[in-house]
Amino acid sequence: MKKQFMVIGLGRFGTSLTRTLIQNGHEVLAVDKDEFLVQEISSIATHAIQADCTDEAALLELGVRNFTHAIVAIGDDLQASILTTLLLKELNVPQVTAKAKNEKHGSLLSKIGADHIVYPERDMGARLGNQLSSDNLIDYIELSPDYNLVEIMAPPAMNGLSLNQLNIRAAYGCTIMAIKTGDQMNISPKAEDEIYTGDILLIIGNNDDIRHLESDYE
Ligand code: ADP
Repeated sequence: MKKQFMVIGLGRFGTSLTRTLIQNGHEVLAVDKDEFLVQEISSIATHAIQADCTDEAALLELGVRNFTHAIVAIGDDLQASILTTLLLKELNVPQVTAKAKNEKHGSLLSKIGADHIVYPERDMGARLGNQLSSDNLIDYIELSPDYNLVEIMAPPAMNGLSLNQLNIRAAYGCTIMAIKTGDQMNISPKAEDEIYTGDILLIIGNNDDIRHLESDYE
């Protein structure tokens, strides 16, 4: 379903976010106080407007009340980030996502009512750290602080073995939810299905259990 977003702050994060939302078929009003950045994004965004979003009148003029979701992508200027978030919540924007530079910034944003805080640098650092620490990890989704859904390259030690032979669930408490072989996705693998080198496995489980499994099959 097509949604309308307002992205405030067109630095690297806001610009990349705008581009992705547009690619996914949504409408984006992109705003920055810097006229040059507004010009730059005008060919991509649905609408691009120059405005200082710490000014309530300017926000009202942008039609902020028509948006159900605004993203505050201002990072360096702490005061502007806080004030803009506060105004958006005072003007009853239902969903406000704000980018935080660090934990203190994030905690302030959440105290003034931001509905969702993102920490792109912290999270990207953690993600890269996890990927570099493992030989086989391709990607992961953090389901909770303790549980992950991971995508790993099938380790050579699993080559030719069936799920039954591997007995992953009993041995590690993790579940292989899908096996990807080339373009084929086996989304509910059976006990007799075999794993081969080059396959990609989707595994759900507790982080410690997944780590344990990975190190046993290194
Ligand atoms: P990144 O790290 O993603 O590049 P920055 O913090 O450098 O993000 O960029 C934030 C953007 O937010 C800048 O382009 C800046 O002009 C814009 N910005 C800062 N204050 C305001 C404001 N009050 N109203 C609108 N845009 C703002």
